[in-house]
Amino acid sequence: MRILVVGGGMGGTILANNLARRLSGELKSGKASITMLSASEKHMYQPGLLYVAVGKMTPDELYRDQVSLLESSITFRVDPVTKFNLKENNVVTESGKQYDYDIIVISTGSRTFAEGTPGLAENALQFYTEADAVNMYKRLQHFDGGKVVVAVGVPHKCPMAPLEITFMLADYFRERGIWDKVQMHYTYPIGRVHSLEPVAQWAQPEFDRLGITYETLFNMKEVTENKVISEEGTEAEYDLLVTVPSHKGMQVIEDSDLGAGGFIPTNRTRLNIEGYENAFVIGDTTNLPISKAGSTAHFEAEALAENIASTIKIGTPVRDYDGKVFCFIEAGEGKATYAMFNYQNPPNPKAPTKGIHWFKTAYNKMYWASARGLL
Ligand SMILES: Cc1cc2nc3c(=O)[nH]c(=O)nc-3n(C[C@H](O)[C@H](O)[C@H](O)COP(=O)(O)OP(=O)(O)OC[C@H]3O[C@@H](n4cnc5c(N)ncnc54)[C@H](O)[C@@H]3O)c2cc1C
Repeated sequence: MRILVVGGGMGGTILANNLARRLSGELKSGKASITMLSASEKHMYQPGLLYVAVGKMTPDELYRDQVSLLESSITFRVDPVTKFNLKENNVVTESGKQYDYDIIVISTGSRTFAEGTPGLAENALQFYTEADAVNMYKRLQHFDGGKVVVAVGVPHKCPMAPLEITFMLADYFRERGIWDKVQMHYTYPIGRVHSLEPVAQWAQPEFDRLGITYETLFNMKEVTENKVISEEGTEAEYDLLVTVPSHKGMQVIEDSDLGAGGFIPTNRTRLNIEGYENAFVIGDTTNLPISKAGSTAHFEAEALAENIASTIKIGTPVRDYDGKVFCFIEAGEGKATYAMFNYQNPPNPKAPTKGIHWFKTAYNKMYWASARGLL
């Protein structure tokens, strides 16, 4: 049984390690094999980029060699897939090789698409790549006050990042002693400040308390060098613009006709690609109506690994993915809270505490144990 995992990020790594342990006997005897294809020999802890953008972490803290995170029974290759041929059970890679499989799991993630909004990439600070987060921190140090706009597009990965960067920027300006010279304004595309209603109900009074203004139903249409113009016909003037732009899946997903915008139609409980029994998708690349988060990828990976292993061992899957997501929310002032939810139960964020912030800070280090499947 040849299992091919495409993508060595959060979802792919947790899935491959979990599967390697469950199938250790089959891997030893040669009845099964696990191969991972990825686009990088490095594994990045992406949540750390938020902290890099405000000078609380440095990029070197965010990386490990991918091979050091994987069970030794997994074959790892840096050879990005350029074409998925699901009907023929194979993929073609950048090096020109063809990999045949019996089971495939796709976890190639998502990417920002600022280019979709005229003027946004040229004028806004971003923090979703190492280069962008470092650039943002450098630019912040030369900002001495004025109008700061945080403008958000959907869909995007990390549901809490727009709120977190807003609260973390408020902290940054306070620590610099320029908070009284800053007016912060937050824009969000739907009719409340966050897509999850209970999170919006928690965040809005926090914004009010801090004096951060907001405009909802604000879909970015165009950005000039001093204002953001919305589809709805309103404008937000800025001296400093920070954005979480809308995202797409990877180009190869669209090029292989697997899903509009690079997001693949996915069965919500079994995580198979609609129409295929032996092809699965986890993490940001699904089109599921749940948050694109590392924890989503993690919980999906655990459920799917159990099902692939049980199908090989006893001929049937045993678990449904229930839509579970867990997200910390950095709330500023040294405090954090969290949101935990699934398909049936909405989140219910509590008042932020210092303890939860410390736990999140610790998790930033513990992540590597989680990727190895030890947590
Ligand atoms: C600033 C920021 C803050 C975040 N904060 C949080 C947080 O606090 N909590 C949380 O849960 N989530 C957070 N996230 C989101 C989280 O990082 C992602 O949702 C998660 O990494 C998704 O996992 P994935 O496996 O789908 O994709 P990724 O982890 O992005 O992995 C994708 C993998 O696919 C590989 N790949 C890409 N193209 C190809 C190809 N053609 N062939 C082969 N391999 C390919 C890449 O090299 C990579 O290894 C944050 C993200 C960012 C950017």
